[in-house]
Amino acid sequence: MKTIGFIGTGVMGASIVGHLMDAGYEVNVYNRTKHKAEPLINRGAVWKDTPEEIAASSELIFTMVGFPEDVEEVYYGENGIFDGIRPDTIVVDLTTSKPSIAQKIYETAKQKDAASLDAPVSGGDLGAKNGTVTTMVGGDESVFEEVKSIFMIFSGTLELQGPAGSGQHTKMANQIMIAGTMTGLTELLVYADAAGLNKEKVLKTVGGGSAANWSLQNYGPRILKEDYSAGFFVKHFIKDLKIALEEADRMGIELPATKKAKALYDQLKDDGHGDEGTQALIRLWWKDAE
Ligand code: NAP
Repeated sequence: MKTIGFIGTGVMGASIVGHLMDAGYEVNVYNRTKHKAEPLINRGAVWKDTPEEIAASSELIFTMVGFPEDVEEVYYGENGIFDGIRPDTIVVDLTTSKPSIAQKIYETAKQKDAASLDAPVSGGDLGAKNGTVTTMVGGDESVFEEVKSIFMIFSGTLELQGPAGSGQHTKMANQIMIAGTMTGLTELLVYADAAGLNKEKVLKTVGGGSAANWSLQNYGPRILKEDYSAGFFVKHFIKDLKIALEEADRMGIELPATKKAKALYDQLKDDGHGDEGTQALIRLWWKDAE
């Protein structure tokens, strides 16, 4: 059984580590802020002081940090993974990041006789808690096959999409869809409210028809409870939409609706709500929401 290293024990990472431990794996953990890893350490995860130490003591390494810059730092920074990595190690980046960084990590890992996969996930904080995220993988099939059973510990849906970077591209396609479901959910509620409808009833009814979607089902009730805490941070969604639009630009395609969604989320962040959940978008309309 492989010893697993895990870097980034935030909203998503902490739950995923919990599932790996429940499945009987020994897990080494590192996080920028140590106290966020403490509940896991108390359960038996082993703290390491740097990504380099994680690499030196683990055969399979997952990273799930915030932004592409964080990914660069944990792999290539001082005391980074590539300072400590041993031959035959597999590194898996679960962060939603740039396809080009995934390709770079793939090449570096190869040079070090190691291997890498990019494997961003979807399904939110609840998917991570329930161990049912959708995992979108890029990389070599032989490497994917080697760690597939470990992915299945925390995934409900799992698919190899193609070579390095394909997982990240798939996640960008996913986020383009989410841009539509989140703006749709928000405008649905703004409209229903203005029309004097019972918003709970509306969500329940349209959620049973062809407007049904994950955002409506999971974030609709949170909005009605005025719960704007992150599940999925606004600042991370803006990061994703920026990557998607940059990639679209590079490929010469126009995504006007995604551009508009990003402008709305930029405005929400400028209003001071970057650390809230993406359901806080409604604040642009319901200004006095607590
Ligand atoms: P999060 O709670 O901010 O977790 C990220 C963790 O990584 C934090 O604990 C952070 O440490 C740590 N970290 C960041 N940079 C680091 C570094 N250089 N070295 C060590 N640790 C570092 O965010 P999250 O919601 O779990 O999301 C993580 C990633 O998954 C993001 O890319 C996000 O877009 C993606 N994602 C999130 C969701 C969701 O619904 N939440 C769903 C799918 C995908 P600190 O404690 O110091 O901040």
